Amino acid sequence: MKPMGAVPADYRWDGGKLLIGGQTAEALIARAGDTPLFVYDMAIVRDRIARFRDAMPAELALHYAIKANPHPDLLAATAPLVDGLDVASAGEMAMALAVMAPERISFAGPGKRDDELEAAIRAGVTLNLESPAEGRRALVIGKRLGVRPQLAIRVNPDFELRGSGMRMGGRASPFGMDAAEVAPLVAEIDAGAGDWRGLHIFAGSQALDAGAIVETQAQTLALARRLAEAVGRPAPLVNLGGGFGIPYFPGEQPVDLAAVGAALKDTLPSSPRTAFAIELGRWLVGEAGVYLTRILDKKVSNGETFLITDGGLHHQLAASGNFGTVVRRNYPLALASGMGDETEVVNVVGCLCTPLDRLGDRVELPRAEVNDVIAIFMAGAYGVTASPSAFLGHVPARERVLD
Ligand SMILES: *Cc1c(COP(=O)(O)O)cnc(C)c1O
Repeated sequence: MKPMGAVPADYRWDGGKLLIGGQTAEALIARAGDTPLFVYDMAIVRDRIARFRDAMPAELALHYAIKANPHPDLLAATAPLVDGLDVASAGEMAMALAVMAPERISFAGPGKRDDELEAAIRAGVTLNLESPAEGRRALVIGKRLGVRPQLAIRVNPDFELRGSGMRMGGRASPFGMDAAEVAPLVAEIDAGAGDWRGLHIFAGSQALDAGAIVETQAQTLALARRLAEAVGRPAPLVNLGGGFGIPYFPGEQPVDLAAVGAALKDTLPSSPRTAFAIELGRWLVGEAGVYLTRILDKKVSNGETFLITDGGLHHQLAASGNFGTVVRRNYPLALASGMGDETEVVNVVGCLCTPLDRLGDRVELPRAEVNDVIAIFMAGAYGVTASPSAFLGHVPARERVLD
C-alpha cells in the first residue's frame, strides 16, 4: 500500500457519501449529464480569498493568475472578489477583459507575439515585459497605434523560493530580465512614450513553508527598493509574485498564512506612491475542484486489483504524476459513492492505452465495484486546461461551477 494526500478539510460526508457543495457526486453527475466531471465549489474559493484578506495587510492587493483555472463561470465569480487578474496569453487576456477592467489586468509570458502586444496596448492592459527587446517592440507598436503602452518590468530575481515545486528564479531563466537591465529599460520607456507601471518579481511556485515564503518576500521587497533607487523614482506597483502551495501529498501541511501575513505587516513599506500585490493561482482554486470519474471495469492482474475508470491523464494530467513532478505520488482519492467498512488496496487507472495513465498507485479505498464513482481531489488548478485532452480522442471532461 502507498499513502495518499489528505482530502481537504472543506469536504463533508453524509452516510458515507461525499458531499461537494452540499450535493452528492451522483446528484452532481445527473445534473451535468455524465462523467468524467470536474466540479468547482466557489464556496471554497471564497473561503480562501477571505482567509487571505484576514491574514494579510489590508493594503496588499490580491491578483488571480487565471492559468490555474480559466473556466468562464469560475472567472466571472472570482473576478469581483480579487483586485486584479494575471494572464499569460492573448486568449487568457480576452477572457479576463470580459470580467475585469483593463487597468487591473497584467499580461506576463516569455514569448509574446506582436499581435498579442498590440491587443494588450489597444486594450490598456499592462504588459509585464520579459526582456528589453520585448519592451522596444511594445514601444514601436504603441507609437504606431498612437497609444501609450502600460509597461511593467519582470525581473529574474537573483534568489529562489526555497522548497518551491517549480523554481523560477535564482538562475539563468527565460522569465524576466536581469536586475541591471531594469533602470536602462525604464529610461527607454520614458523616452519612448510608454508608462512605466512597476515591477513583477516571481521567484517560484508551490511552496508550503511559510518561513521560505517570508524570506523570499523580504528579498523581493529589498530588490524592489534597490531597483526603484536605480530608476530614480518609486515603482507604481510591485507585484511580489506568489508561490503559495497546497498540500497535494502525504505529510504535507498547508501554508501558515498567519505567519506570512504577520511578517508582511512588518516588512511591507507603507508608501502612498507604491502599491503592492501578490498573485496566486493554485492556492485560490486548487482545493475547490474535484474530478469525478466512474469505474468501468475491475480486474485482477498478477495479484493486484485494478479499477479502470472513464477518466484519466487526458483530463487530469497532474494526478498521474506527469505534470512537473519527479517522483509519482498519490493525490488524495476517495470512493465518492459509498463507504463500506471493508477496504482493499487498488490501482486506480484511466482509460488511456498508456501505463502513464495511473491516478492512484496501490491506494487503500473502501471496496468499490463497477459503476461506483471515484473522486480525485486537488483538481481545481492545472486540470482540464493543463492536460492533453486530444490525446486518444476520448470525450472531453464536463465542468460545473457551484456558486
Ligand atoms: C503560473 C504563475 C502564477 C501562478 O502560480 P500558482 O503556483 O498557481 O500560484 C503566478 N505568477 C506567474 C508569473 C506565473 O507564471
